Amino acid sequence: MDRKIIHVDMDAFFASVEQLDFPELRGKPVIVGGTSSRGVAATCSYEARKFGVHSAMPIFQAKKLCPNGIYVHGRHERYEEISREIFSLLSEITDDIVKVSIDEAYLDVTNLYLSAEYIGKYIKKKVKKETGLTVSVGISYNMFLAKLASDWDKPDGFFVIKKEDVPDILKPLSIMKIHGLGKKSAEKLNNIGIYTIEELLEYDKDVLTNLLGSMGEEIYNKIRGIDLRKVASHTERKSIGTEITFAEDTDVFDEISARAYKYLHEVNEMLLKKKMLAKTIVLKIKFEDFTQVTRSKSLEVYTDDEKNFKPLLKELLGKVEYKGKVRLLGITLANLISNREKQLEIFDIIGEEDGK
Ligand SMILES: [Mg+2]
Repeated sequence: MDRKIIHVDMDAFFASVEQLDFPELRGKPVIVGGTSSRGVAATCSYEARKFGVHSAMPIFQAKKLCPNGIYVHGRHERYEEISREIFSLLSEITDDIVKVSIDEAYLDVTNLYLSAEYIGKYIKKKVKKETGLTVSVGISYNMFLAKLASDWDKPDGFFVIKKEDVPDILKPLSIMKIHGLGKKSAEKLNNIGIYTIEELLEYDKDVLTNLLGSMGEEIYNKIRGIDLRKVASHTERKSIGTEITFAEDTDVFDEISARAYKYLHEVNEMLLKKKMLAKTIVLKIKFEDFTQVTRSKSLEVYTDDEKNFKPLLKELLGKVEYKGKVRLLGITLANLISNREKQLEIFDIIGEEDGK
């Protein structure tokens, strides 16, 4: 099955935050990045870009192009704050997320039931609603193409690159659009007359490897829509649990049992938060002599309701042969699946309305 990858990229992030916080800056060319002539522009508003100003441009040069621009110092704490807000909203959607910078992330939504288009539109609406800022969303079946897509109709963009579009849709693009191809490599290609992806597609892998070294093959593959990088390196979560060593070893059953129920409650809360359902409960007990026992019991159905696990825990606690004081107790919920209804609840707010 093809993967569903979403690339999310805030539009002119720092400048947009300035325009959000200071309404008098709206509609004006704003350049963030130090007011000293020796600095460089960190971000420019779209109004400033019309003058040819772009990020990483020395301020003195920007001032020549855009003398009436508004030059402001960056307020990084504020940008971090909004960034955290956006990422916490994205991480509600999936754990398969990788943050690539303060204002940019990839999400792998392959395992979600809703279409990537639906989720992408939801993200745009939700970010706008919660922060007042616009974001561009790109969707495709790999990271390279998703990033290309988010850049396609910025700002406030929404673009999908489908498998059947590739490579034709890429052909007219400048090779500068290939994320990962550095300036020097681009120059080497320009030197032999390659400016567009269409021109680059004519060269074999060997030629590109000779010219660009190890990156040659990567570029060769990317422009053919091949990019196998994974969004998140973590493996799928199969259990959620906690285990705690007691401050003092105990053989008082009521105390041990009270702890067990308390941990069950905590672990069940984590389950709810992860929007998962579980079937199995595992009790682990370690004694003062460091021997340990592990007992587990499963339900017939998946659940995220704590009270379904309680009778199982009672049974497990009763089954353990207590041969001394207990020093550690652990509760784990295992056999997890995602809770489809809970996932759908998150997306409720956009309803049937069209995105963008
Ligand atoms: Mg951005």
